[in-house]
Amino acid sequence: MAQKNVVVVGAGVAGLTTALLLSRRPGYNIVVAAKHMPGDYDIEYASPWAGANYMPVSVRGTEAAEWDKNTWGPLEDLARNHPDAGVHFQHCEIHNRSKDVGTATAEWFAELLSPNPWFKEVVPSFRSIPKSELGPGIDSATDFTSVCINTAIYLPWLVSQCLKNGVIFKRASFNHISDAGRPDVHPAKKVDLVVNCTGLGAAKLGGVEDKTVVPARGQIVLVRNDAGKMLDVSGTDDGDGEACYVMTRAAGGGTILGGCYQKGSFESGVDPNLAVRIMKRAVALCPALTGGKGIEHLDIIRHGVGLRPVREGGTRIAKERIGGAWVVHNYGAGGAGYQSSYGCAMAAVKLVEEALEARAKL
Ligand code: FAD
Repeated sequence: MAQKNVVVVGAGVAGLTTALLLSRRPGYNIVVAAKHMPGDYDIEYASPWAGANYMPVSVRGTEAAEWDKNTWGPLEDLARNHPDAGVHFQHCEIHNRSKDVGTATAEWFAELLSPNPWFKEVVPSFRSIPKSELGPGIDSATDFTSVCINTAIYLPWLVSQCLKNGVIFKRASFNHISDAGRPDVHPAKKVDLVVNCTGLGAAKLGGVEDKTVVPARGQIVLVRNDAGKMLDVSGTDDGDGEACYVMTRAAGGGTILGGCYQKGSFESGVDPNLAVRIMKRAVALCPALTGGKGIEHLDIIRHGVGLRPVREGGTRIAKERIGGAWVVHNYGAGGAGYQSSYGCAMAAVKLVEEALEARAKL
């Protein structure tokens, strides 16, 4: 097949990374069509709200761990060689409290909290922090070098890399995945394959309607204060759905204070009480934020709420024929859309190639 006409539905980190990797291959004419684009802040669009960092929670030996592993190299390359992408290296500490064992957050973070996680061979400088260096209430901890992504720079950067490679961007809201294969969506007037990167939208999109995709609500506070490092802790004393993490984004992007993981909640409004708890916990975990002072010394840029697209069984990377046409899925990354982005996109691109080869032989 000489020319391969592809429509990628979705312009979050999944759609943009998949489009970018496809556009680096010869013979692809790509359109990215999406309801929301970088620059938008909307409850139906998870990507701008992410921290975003590389803290794998995937379990050793799984496909998800493989996707995370395959993502570290490209992110490290961006941090080292492409300052314009808005990704930087950051020292990262993971704190563990024995009393959190068995809670939802500790279960979710199990691999991350392990003294021997699979990624200790992947990220630089992994070590267990000696007991003598631990703060009050912390029973064990590890640290390593990670990256923090300024999503306000990185998402537009992905768009600009795609544009340089000839990708066309357009706004569209589809009721059915087959609508993305209509001749009017692509300038070639013919679509060979559709890539579905609709995140939480996959639950409603006709032809997909994956009811195992649900939101895990995350609320954050973005502040001007500098944390100096990235911190995460196994739990909080404020209930199972709450979490505590701090990370400073690259290139003046401010510091993200999080958070929560409220599964099943579509609530788009900021909960002011939760915001206070988030700030109190962050200042206790990282006194450097305010020089040891209280939350009134936090300089707030904005509060935010995003919905992680969590899928039962993990991210769906699969190819399927819908209405007689090939669709490749890449959706449902939950809280790991950035840290698995390149691994997932590589796997999706492989399926695109396989599907188009099969089609060429028909
Ligand atoms: P989205 O970004 O939601 O994009 C979906 C796209 O599909 C949008 O363009 C939308 O308009 C489009 N779309 C949907 N339906 C349709 C339709 N019917 N027609 C047309 N277009 C459609 N991940 C990390 O790796 N590290 C982190 O530190 C991290 N922190 C996070 C913190 C918070 C508070 C939150 C909320 C998330 C965090 N995540 C993190 C998770 C990450 O943000 C998500 O996994 C990721 O953004 C999902 O990307 P996506 O492209 O699949 O979905």
